[in-house]
Amino acid sequence: MIIAIDGPAASGKGTLARLLARHYGLKHLDTGSLYRAVALAILNAGGDPADQACALKIARQMDFNQFSDDELRGAGVGEAASVVAAMPEVRAIMLKRQRAFAAEPPGAVLDGRDIGTIVCPDADVKLFVTALAGVRAGRRFEEAVLRGQDGSYEEVLRDIERRDERDTNRAIAPLKPAADAHLLDTSELDIETAFQAAVRVIDGST
Ligand code: C5P
Repeated sequence: MIIAIDGPAASGKGTLARLLARHYGLKHLDTGSLYRAVALAILNAGGDPADQACALKIARQMDFNQFSDDELRGAGVGEAASVVAAMPEVRAIMLKRQRAFAAEPPGAVLDGRDIGTIVCPDADVKLFVTALAGVRAGRRFEEAVLRGQDGSYEEVLRDIERRDERDTNRAIAPLKPAADAHLLDTSELDIETAFQAAVRVIDGST
């Protein structure tokens, strides 16, 4: 079984994907972490994430397991990842990886921006998880505080809005619900309620 979960930053899709993978005995791939890894490798090398030739070179020879989750979630990495993610050649490399992962038994939950539309258009179930930008910024801000990172709620909100704008309006694989995706708005749901809602959708469609 393949479950495709898409949505904007901090919509809750990552946590939901992890819980669903455990519940259904599937593997999980956080596809945003692939773009984050390329972006962080560029930043660490002193490069410019907007430099396509540099991004492509790094993406081609990338060891995707070299960074910890904390490093991938560090300040500025999400923003740089969304710049890198707008490059078709970089996306082509990621597409291969993601499809190979999805094809391995016993199946997988993948979360990202283009899973239901591009990566796994034949997924058994597709969820598009949203939440109001203010709510999403609040969640990311709390996570950043727990990690001991500096920055204000307003900065986090600006980062989220800038990324939403770039991810939604890019020419290749823009963030949008697949025609057959089930919409799940988590603005007023805690994670347990969102999880139960997702399980109802999945059990009802498989
Ligand atoms: O989900 P996360 O915030 O970790 O993603 C970081 C960035 O990676 C996103 O803002 C987006 O630009 C890009 N991304 C993407 N396609 C995916 C997953 C992430 O373009 N499937």
